[in-house]
Amino acid sequence: MGHEFSGQVVEVGEGVTKFKAGDRVTVEPIYACGHCEACKAGFYNLCSTMGFLGLAGGGGGFSEYVAADEVMVHKIPDNVSYEQGALVEPSAVALHAVRQSKLKVGDKAVVFGAGPIGLLVIEALKASGASEIYAVELSPERKQKATELGAIVIDPKEYDVVEELHKRTNGGVDVAFEVTGVPPVFTQALNSTRIGGELMIVSIFEKKRLSILTMSL
Ligand SMILES: [Zn+2]
Repeated sequence: MGHEFSGQVVEVGEGVTKFKAGDRVTVEPIYACGHCEACKAGFYNLCSTMGFLGLAGGGGGFSEYVAADEVMVHKIPDNVSYEQGALVEPSAVALHAVRQSKLKVGDKAVVFGAGPIGLLVIEALKASGASEIYAVELSPERKQKATELGAIVIDPKEYDVVEELHKRTNGGVDVAFEVTGVPPVFTQALNSTRIGGELMIVSIFEKKRLSILTMSL
């Protein structure tokens, strides 16, 4: 278990030139084949047989020792703690989602789901200059964290989320981020955007692939 982790290099394999024992590092935990179409195009994060170190074997962050390919290891600066180093991977996911979107400085955004990734999306949005960031969340702890990070929390138990977002943003958000993986929330996220807005799917829909035909819009 554990695909988000950091640690210290204790030993390097033959031919490793970038690292030495004692280096403080974090691991990019993607296993990619290196020769499918996606890999050849540089999108190894979209490899058709992709796996994660820690989820698909290889020990992972809960092990005492783990082996990783040199190209997937990254040094962390001295002023970054190991705890922060363990957050590099999920932070990269969040930042990538915001960079992939068309969000501009001053835009309004909503994040559906304020779990670890959702909270990091809020931080990435803040750093990217979003003027208003809404967070749709039920859990009291997560709601509190989202508020601390500067988001305006909307509890779906208290509001019709889509209606409330349209009211507060005068017609819908510029960009919505779906970070729950729950199909009905996907529909809400889609409907929360303004005309010409954008929906970013950050979550993984593990149980059931979304189907346009079964979506009740
Ligand atoms: Zn591949």
